[in-house]
Amino acid sequence: MRMNLRFIPLLLLLLFVTTCSTKKKDAIALVGATLIDGTGKAPIKDAVIIFEKGKITAIGTQSTITIPDNASQIKVAGKTIMPGIINAHGHIGGTEGLSAVYSAANVARDLKLNAAYGITTVYSLGGDGKESVAIRDEQDTILLNRSRLYVAGEVITGSTPEEARTNVDKNAAMNVDYIKIRVDDNLGTAEKMKPEIYQAIIEQASKHNLQVVAHIFYLEDAKALLRSGVKFIGHSVRDQKVDEEFIRLMKENDAVYCPTLMREVSTFVYEDTPEFFQDPFFLKHADTAVIQQLKDPVRKQLVRTSLATNIYKGAFFVAKYNLKLLSDAGVRIAMGTDAGPPGRFQGYFEHLELEQMVDAGLTPLQAITAATGHAVYNKQQSQLGTLEVGKAADLQILGADPLQHIQNTRTIESVWIGGHKIP
Ligand SMILES: [Zn+2]
Repeated sequence: MRMNLRFIPLLLLLLFVTTCSTKKKDAIALVGATLIDGTGKAPIKDAVIIFEKGKITAIGTQSTITIPDNASQIKVAGKTIMPGIINAHGHIGGTEGLSAVYSAANVARDLKLNAAYGITTVYSLGGDGKESVAIRDEQDTILLNRSRLYVAGEVITGSTPEEARTNVDKNAAMNVDYIKIRVDDNLGTAEKMKPEIYQAIIEQASKHNLQVVAHIFYLEDAKALLRSGVKFIGHSVRDQKVDEEFIRLMKENDAVYCPTLMREVSTFVYEDTPEFFQDPFFLKHADTAVIQQLKDPVRKQLVRTSLATNIYKGAFFVAKYNLKLLSDAGVRIAMGTDAGPPGRFQGYFEHLELEQMVDAGLTPLQAITAATGHAVYNKQQSQLGTLEVGKAADLQILGADPLQHIQNTRTIESVWIGGHKIP
């Protein structure tokens, strides 16, 4: 009898826990905000979005949605909800200060930083070691407290088609999400990958059911790659105005165009002290030692007098011109920054990229769609990118409407990944 009495507190605790769990609010309802769903449709006013176990279960207006008993309500009238931003072209884990250093710890650090800036998914296009693959494989949890990651592994090269095929096989064995190639001569300073090599890579990647993402600079290379079956152009065409044939090939391939305007900006902006060094949204997470290094007059002078700097300045304007032209022509645009390498501040640069896209002539809604529903590719298209029933509750609550002013993407009040609020 004495033994049984000892168990009474335990039984009471068990009863308490059971009672609590039956009353537990499993779902969350965000009520009253203006909601941009990432599909490109006009925003929903006075919206309700409900999510449970990481997924969206209902979305609509307050007059059409009944909030279930198991949902705890959060009033967000006057706020704007938009999907988490997706960076379709980044590089994760490869930088320390202004040096190239790759490590698992840097991958983890970068993904937290991206999440803090409302970037909930990053496609890392090259320089990804097995550590990145392992970190990607850990993300299938509703308690994720950092950005989602998809990886290309090492950028594929090869002096012969056979060697290139072997390198594709190695990346495939690592279980990467896609294959990255570079077809460029770095403004005439390097040898460009030959068509026979990239054609072998494209063919081998397709045997592994992997899509090829192509770094390009020149229009003719972009067209040749599209003719070889590439469906993702990872940078702007920067040598000249795109033509009708390019537009036709993009559409025929159902291809995605990723402008990476901030990549160009990063090549010349440090010739002087950039305006964004004053932005509290930047300074919140910036490394002051890096800022000091970039302000160094000797360094500035080197940037200012570099031939590449001045060529890329011109390339930047060509890129913006082509972006507007392609957007108007109905080509699918995916926001990407090529951020991550030294001096390209990931998390923050995505917000500057959106501003540049609007400056190029896109509407704020077009830029946001490019950074959400249109930025997601591969198998993730059914899960991420837009706020729709069945998809992941990856979203952010903003204090001001980015459709009124694109800089309002910086008014982040909270970021949610898989229905879980990032601390
Ligand atoms: Zn890149």
